[in-house]
Amino acid sequence: MPAKVVQAKARVDAVRQLTPQIFEVDLRMEDPAEFGFDAGQWVSVPFGPKTVRTYSLASTPSSRRAITLCADVAPGGIGSRWFKSLKAGDVVEFKGPTGGFVLNRADSRRPLFVAEEIGVVPIRSILWDCVQTGFGRPSALIYWCRDPSWLAYDQEFRLLSRRYPGFTYTPVVREPTAGWAGEKGEPEEVVDRSVRSVQGLVAYVSGGGDMINRVRQVLMAKGLDRKSVRWEKFW
Ligand SMILES: Cc1cc2nc3c(=O)[nH]c(=O)nc-3n(C[C@H](O)[C@H](O)[C@H](O)COP(=O)(O)OP(=O)(O)OC[C@H]3O[C@@H](n4cnc5c(N)ncnc54)[C@H](O)[C@@H]3O)c2cc1C
Repeated sequence: MPAKVVQAKARVDAVRQLTPQIFEVDLRMEDPAEFGFDAGQWVSVPFGPKTVRTYSLASTPSSRRAITLCADVAPGGIGSRWFKSLKAGDVVEFKGPTGGFVLNRADSRRPLFVAEEIGVVPIRSILWDCVQTGFGRPSALIYWCRDPSWLAYDQEFRLLSRRYPGFTYTPVVREPTAGWAGEKGEPEEVVDRSVRSVQGLVAYVSGGGDMINRVRQVLMAKGLDRKSVRWEKFW
């Protein structure tokens, strides 16, 4: 059963900088003491009567007393400035969990995850949730960033792909730096090159709306039906 939406209060436990523009914040729940959610869901933080910013849970449902959010602060708006200012001890109020970008475990098709930059956050939660709950299924992640310095969680995904041969990890950048051995290009180009058949495939795509459309077009041109492309539009 999906967790009930609640108004919650938590306190910042720790802040980590993952890349020059990406920060992770651990929150210890205060009220309620435990926060239940499904991997892939998000919370909303109010900034006034009609202004909210939304953050996906980067942690997994196995941890209910402490949760982790992760944000790219480069957009520089009200949400970014707030996230960047967070420090241990600060109180954070939010509402959630919300959202349907969750892995359908009853669906026997193999998931292809495609993330654009910070859009990787809900996918990170889904992948670790699968590991923690022993839910094994061949899956693949195509993770696009403008250059390698934006690839938050890259080491984790490499580790997962070494540990679980059924999980394929393909980092992709537009602007490789010296020594880059991965793919180069745009997300939809790599999807086009690497997906040979859409038989038995379901896609979970997260990031900007333009990228979601381009990836959907490529997959539909290969014969995947529109409904088999699930998406989370961050911007
Ligand atoms: C379902 C959902 C989940 C989300 N989860 C996360 C999350 O886990 N982490 C996170 O950092 N953000 C997440 N976002 C985006 C987040 O809610 C804010 O929109 C973002 O942080 C920018 O807020 P801002 O107030 O700093 O900038 P704004 O003033 O709101 O935005 C400035 C401009 O930047 C664009 N923009 C916003 N984010 C990006 C981006 N990353 N790259 C390029 N352009 C962007 C906006 O469309 C706008 O044009 C999520 C959004 C949605 C809808």
